[in-house]
Amino acid sequence: MKFPLTEDTLGKKLKAGTGLSVDCLTCKRKATLDVAELVKRLGPDHGAMLWSLIKVLFCQECRDAGRDDRNL
Ligand SMILES: [Zn+2]
Repeated sequence: MKFPLTEDTLGKKLKAGTGLSVDCLTCKRKATLDVAELVKRLGPDHGAMLWSLIKVLFCQECRDAGRDDRNL
């Protein structure tokens, strides 16, 4: 049985090599995420969808500037 390729976890995302990027709506900066680093931090079974990652992500530039840093 063959399932369609899904990249719903970080482990699958890393294997697929598609990468992951988010846009900060506050400073309009596009940040490319290091999937390998996220797998190390969160584990390969962690969800790779934005709503799974929003809890652990923030915009470094906005945090440094004291702005809302989770407006991704
Ligand atoms: Zn920002």
